[in-house]
Amino acid sequence: MSKPKNAFEIFQFLDKSNCGECGEKTCLAFAGAVFLGQRRIRECPRLSPDVLERFVAEPDRESPHEATPEDRLQKLKSEVVHLDLAEAAKRVGAVLSGNKLTLKVLGKDFSVDAEGNLFAEIHINPWVAAPFLSYILYGQGLPVSGKWVTFRELEGGRDRYPLFLKRCEEPMKRVADVYTPLFDDIVHVFGGRQVDKQFESDISVVLYPLPKVPVMICYWLPEDGLESSLHIFFDETADRNLDIGAVFTLGTGLAQMFSKIALRHGFVTKT
Ligand code: SF4
Repeated sequence: MSKPKNAFEIFQFLDKSNCGECGEKTCLAFAGAVFLGQRRIRECPRLSPDVLERFVAEPDRESPHEATPEDRLQKLKSEVVHLDLAEAAKRVGAVLSGNKLTLKVLGKDFSVDAEGNLFAEIHINPWVAAPFLSYILYGQGLPVSGKWVTFRELEGGRDRYPLFLKRCEEPMKRVADVYTPLFDDIVHVFGGRQVDKQFESDISVVLYPLPKVPVMICYWLPEDGLESSLHIFFDETADRNLDIGAVFTLGTGLAQMFSKIALRHGFVTKT
């Protein structure tokens, strides 16, 4: 879509309910703020999936992670050539052997060499590979604090949260609703662990897509007429050990993987 010429062009895509959930008093005020570059259209939680897709499909100059994961991966590979692998290994707690840096991704060895070539015990999906490279290139390597926060609380997470909800938490919830043993599978297959129930959830599972970026998935079963719910939590250091775009990519990739696991067991869900 070409750049809107005025706020009304943006307004036509909105719900027009003036619900105020975006923090603006009216949809028109929100459209004006988007037009001026003060807000992003995806901050409206009431956008229809069609509109959301239409805007997200466009390259976002400020958010390189919203280029396709494949494009992002190629760019990151070219940056590895200039990386001091010994320094990176020390910083992120990886092992350096010869010219190959290795760390655990979802419990499996994942490596990169000085030319940016990737090697892994698991299938090399761009949604895993791009965050892996981003982690070793730019991650601060801070120790995990043990304090869990939502995606929205991470630096840069607030404006991406509506999309994170649609691409990650909601699809994962749909999978968990039809195939609750999923949690046992992912613990088993991906080296995760069940942890004491957090935030009064019925199931809490921690995965390690990257060693210093744990992800906790909490699921609440339906009860007394209340719907089930699912939320994902990150360590409060996640936005410094990985940029927020890569955190987003990991979350949406995990959601796709969960739906594939459910499919293998004969359960079909929409992601
Ligand atoms: S959240 Fe969306 S629908 Fe609600 S007021 Fe804001 S722009 Fe309008």
